Amino acid sequence: MFDRVLIANRGEIALRIHRACREMGIETVAVHSTADADAMHVRLADVSVCIGPPPARDSYLNIPAILSAATITGVDAIHPGYGFLSENARFAEAVEAHGFTFIGPTAEHIRLMGDKIVAKKTAQELGLPLVPGSPGPVASVEEVVALGEKIGWPVLIKAVAGGGGRGMKVVNSPEGASEAFSLARTEAKAAFNNDSVYVEKYLAKPRHIEIQVLGDGLGNGVHLGERDCSLQRRHQKVLEEAPSPALNAEQRNRIGELAAAAVRTLKYRGAGTMEFLFQDGEFYFIEMNTRLQVEHPITEAVTGIDLVREQIRIAAGGALALRQQDIVIYGHAIECRINAENPQTFVPSPGKVVDYHPPGGLGVRVDSGLYAGYSIPPFYDSMVAKLIVSGPSRNECLMRLRRSLEEFVIGGIETTIPLHQEIIQQQDFIDGDYDIHWLEKLVGLKK
Ligand code: ADP
Repeated sequence: MFDRVLIANRGEIALRIHRACREMGIETVAVHSTADADAMHVRLADVSVCIGPPPARDSYLNIPAILSAATITGVDAIHPGYGFLSENARFAEAVEAHGFTFIGPTAEHIRLMGDKIVAKKTAQELGLPLVPGSPGPVASVEEVVALGEKIGWPVLIKAVAGGGGRGMKVVNSPEGASEAFSLARTEAKAAFNNDSVYVEKYLAKPRHIEIQVLGDGLGNGVHLGERDCSLQRRHQKVLEEAPSPALNAEQRNRIGELAAAAVRTLKYRGAGTMEFLFQDGEFYFIEMNTRLQVEHPITEAVTGIDLVREQIRIAAGGALALRQQDIVIYGHAIECRINAENPQTFVPSPGKVVDYHPPGGLGVRVDSGLYAGYSIPPFYDSMVAKLIVSGPSRNECLMRLRRSLEEFVIGGIETTIPLHQEIIQQQDFIDGDYDIHWLEKLVGLKK
């Protein structure tokens, strides 16, 4: 097992990884920008190294600085968290080339899944169902129009290098194709430095269902059930739940087994998530994320399995100790992503947290680096806390979530806590009756 791990991330996920390491008797090294010198994970880590100025490209994305910090502090392994360098195959390679272990998949698998078209081809070969669309990148508006006529309007133009919902444009008819095509390419170029795009049929009312998987790189692989992440704004997840209120046992087992079989065939190593859209009883693969997800705690809550601990164990060379029959889903869990934003306009609201009182009690978990007196820097993602609530049934979970949101005090800044309070009192949400467009409608109604 490792003696010392460097955490190449910030915020709540850096703290989350620190906690798993601590419980495994592993020392931690925090790296941070000058803006994060007072961050909670920096305070708690055994050692911390400042790696650069606030902009992420100069610090959290600065590969030479991170590798130098790893060398100076003598770590065995590097955990990338999510975002930043977590899905950067070059980083995974550089980490290994410098003699450290990358806590994650092989660079080859990151590359395979990082290109959405290659990922879809691979998924198809693995027997996963796909959304109908272009078999490769589309090079012209004419191709978009031809595809729309063939598979039916509307279609969705997506970035080959996509992530975070960027570079996606819906096209309702041939007339709109030209503008959407150039907008999607410009956005993709700006976000990923790659303007290659592809086309998918735009599903009218799907749910976003994703399967958590674990593999050991030796051909063993399991799934840990699904998460329903259909509550999204601008293709970004806002609230997630496990299990999905929309799946029955047969559908759950069918898609879980397919995902686990894919992991075994690929000889995939580490934690991963296979994302699907689900509509009218059918699943459609959209992508695989080769890292830990923001919403991983709801899976931990319903399975009792510490996913970061499993990632570390697998990276240290262990064969997967878990067998599929050991993984039992119990009860229900919901996660609310709490952002430092105005709950109506979504304008970021960084600044000083004057009061901080997280909720507690049975079945309540808060993953956050916040504390009273902490100043949220304006340079990074606005998610500042995750509230994860679990209970024996969905109904009990909802009641517990309601009282936890009431208890949560984050004073001095604006947060999206009121938005979550509003969501969970909607009858559709209480009934579990929502798709990926539902939240946009709710938010839109208020404007
Ligand atoms: P990204 O990598 O940018 O997050 P994804 O392919 O994971 O992109 O899609 C993000 C979200 O966009 C999905 O959860 C879903 O809400 C929406 N989406 C993606 N593909 C489609 C599609 N073919 N039809 C309808 N909605 C889609």
